[in-house]
Amino acid sequence: MTTDIKSMTREELVLLMEELGEKPFRAGQIFSWIHQHLAEDYSEMTNLPKGLREKLADYPLVKTELVTVQRSAKDGTEKYLFRLDDGNLIESVLMRYHHGSSVCISSQAGCRMGCRFCASTIGGLSRSLLPSEMLSQIYHIQRETGERISNIVVMGTGEPLDNYENLLRFIELATCPEGLGISARSITVSTCGLVPEIRRLAEEKLQITLAISLHAPTDEIRKTLMPVANRYSIDELLSACREYFRATGRRITFEYSMISGVNDTPECAEILAGKLKGMACHVNLIPVNPVRERSFRRTSRTKVLEFKNKLEKYGINVTIRREMGTDIDGACGQLRRSMTDTQA
Ligand code: SAH
Repeated sequence: MTTDIKSMTREELVLLMEELGEKPFRAGQIFSWIHQHLAEDYSEMTNLPKGLREKLADYPLVKTELVTVQRSAKDGTEKYLFRLDDGNLIESVLMRYHHGSSVCISSQAGCRMGCRFCASTIGGLSRSLLPSEMLSQIYHIQRETGERISNIVVMGTGEPLDNYENLLRFIELATCPEGLGISARSITVSTCGLVPEIRRLAEEKLQITLAISLHAPTDEIRKTLMPVANRYSIDELLSACREYFRATGRRITFEYSMISGVNDTPECAEILAGKLKGMACHVNLIPVNPVRERSFRRTSRTKVLEFKNKLEKYGINVTIRREMGTDIDGACGQLRRSMTDTQA
């Protein structure tokens, strides 16, 4: 059995208490210390008897150690670099909006999806994160800032659906009323489009928002950007998305990073509109963030607007992603990469 107590549900904690010869109500106390009071050490759990705290030493609390934090002078965005217990580095971003604060968390250390424009994938996958390590990013930021987090986006480093079981347990724990108690509707999971996992997720009937990194209107273009396009066609992907909507009633978000001369022509907008016509969806246009190791250039503001207008003409809901923290840079995985570079 795992010793990762921060990844355990309340029911599992009750079983653990039984195993340790303790009263079941201790489970509720421990769960609340970890997930509501955000305790990082058993010594903080002052209403637990000393004997129990000693037994719990065999169940170390998974931690994230703060390495650096960069604050944007423009919009209050904060980018955190954390070190995990085994030395792996991950990043998380706190974004402050009028309607509340969002934390963007990583689901893996590195990534094996290989998207051409993305910095997170350059060193490949180191490992998947535990549910506790996903939660700890939020807890750490909440402890650090004293602010309540109202939204979670799983859009940092890693492919969340490539870490399916841990992702689901993370969602269960984050939405637990005896824990952080975030509503599922306030959680967005972004995927490069792993079709079988999207179908599986649809069956779970969670109320989370699914964001799909589409980035191209044709398989031909998508294949030049995202290796996953060699596994699943856009048509297969969209059919899984329709199924997700049917099962959950949740509108899909499509992310579309605009790269100059690659996927930003008026013809691309026409084809995209044709594919998405009639779907309950929303398109989020994002001028690509140039990554040092890559040669992609971002689409000009005028062209982004033209693309948006074209999609809107076909009745598609479109927004241009408000760019946050541009002065602290930058694109996904860049802080982690620059740290790995300096350490190497
Ligand atoms: N693996 C998941 C989540 C992590 S990436 C996914 O693919 O959705 C989060 C989002 O940032 C994705 O839409 C990804 O395509 C996008 N992204 C990555 N690098 C980028 C860059 N340099 N510029 C703009 N968007 C980028």
